Formats: sequence, C-alpha cells, structure tokens
Amino acid sequence: MLTRVERYIARNLAKGLYRRPIHLRLARPIISFTFDDFPRTALQRGGAILKEYDVRGTYYISMGLVGKESPSGPICSVDEIQKLAEDGHELGCHTYSHCHSWNTPSERFEEAIEKNQAALQEILPHYRLETLSYPISEPRPDTKRRAGNHFRACRAGGQTFNQGRTDLNQLSAYFLEQSGENLEAVDTLISRCVHARGWLILATHDVQENPSPYGCAPRFFEDVVQSAVKSGAQVLPVAEALSVIQNEAAAAH
Ligand SMILES: [Zn+2]
Repeated sequence: MLTRVERYIARNLAKGLYRRPIHLRLARPIISFTFDDFPRTALQRGGAILKEYDVRGTYYISMGLVGKESPSGPICSVDEIQKLAEDGHELGCHTYSHCHSWNTPSERFEEAIEKNQAALQEILPHYRLETLSYPISEPRPDTKRRAGNHFRACRAGGQTFNQGRTDLNQLSAYFLEQSGENLEAVDTLISRCVHARGWLILATHDVQENPSPYGCAPRFFEDVVQSAVKSGAQVLPVAEALSVIQNEAAAAH
C-alpha cells in the first residue's frame, strides 16, 4: 500500500514529464465514454444504452483477465470481445495483467502492453490497440515515457476534462462512480467542457443494478449518455476523437 504522501507524489510526479502536448480548442467539443477492465455488464448494459443513443464507446481490456471474476463482476468472454468490435466500439489497452501503473517496474509494464496486443491478435488478427488507460493509479514517469511510444494517446484519471494545453500521454478522465451518482455534478462538468470546447472523457467499470463501488447503475448511466448527446458535443470513442483533433490541428496549419 502507498502512504498518502507517496500517493500524492504518484499522482503528480509524471504530470510534467514526458509530455506529448497539444493545444485543445475544438470547433465542436467532444465527449468519450470509456470502460476500464471490460466487465461483461459494461457491454450488456452500458453498450446497449450507448447503442440506443446511436453512439459508441472505448473498452480498455486486460486480456489476462478475460473470463475471470473481478471486483466489478465477471470480465467479458472471447465472444463478447468479437461482438464489441463488430458493434463498432473501440478496444483499448489496459495491459495484459492489469499492472499497477505506479508499482510495476516500467520494463514489466511495457512487456504487459506488448503481451496484451499479442493476445488480442489471437482473437482479432488485424486489430491494433491504439489507446491505453493506465490501470489503478497515475503512471510512474518511465512508464509514461514507454507507454507514450506505443499509443496515439494514454488516459489517466484526475476527475476533470481536457482543454487548452493537453498532454496526450496523460489525458484526464472523470470516473462517473466517484460523483456518487450525482447527475447535476456531471451535467455541470459537461456544460463547462462544452463552453471551453474541450474533450471530456468519462470512465467507469460495470453498469448494473446494484453496481460495484467502481461502476454505475443503468439508470444513472443512461441519464449521463442522454445529457452528453443533448449537449451539442460529438460523442466519439477515444481513437476517433483523436482523429478529429489531429485533423483540426492539421487544418489550422
Ligand atoms: Zn482497471
């Protein structure tokens, strides 16, 4: 276990290092829905809700957890991975064995990135994981440096949205469960992001009645999706959001 001071250092040390900076002021703001660990209910319930609103999300998978139990309920099966890709959602990397982003030696973390990609290719031979979400904590600096070499962008936490000077190697995200299912708080964040023409990346794990402490109830999740869709922002998986951002940057030059 990390002490409080160590956790503070872990949260902040890598922030100023190994940055891949962009300036984010979008023609049209973006909201992305992401799920860490890919518990079954994230697709069964969460994915069904996204589909109802004609939008898609990003699922960060640890291939070493497939078919196993987790604190957010059972993790997806191989069939569900295929279904997810067919439905047009994005699969992202969460390392093969769900490595702690601060405690794991950086070399081992990088091996787990490569192993995750190789394991996925046994199921989906041509699928390339383009983005990563750091498991459990913010990354240690050398882990951030190495991860940045493998992906178009890497997502952390931070409970805020991305605007202005933004680091593609450590994007901020807002975990919905940490709002205590407070729709007003999420709506306020969405409005602020839209006003700033930023990019809000929402995150959670399971979506089910009686969710785990890391997930949310379907009703709350649906309310958030509805707010996002109505907000005027584009709702896009993370890799597609990056393409929009990069095209805008190219057009500005
Ligand atoms: Zn995770």
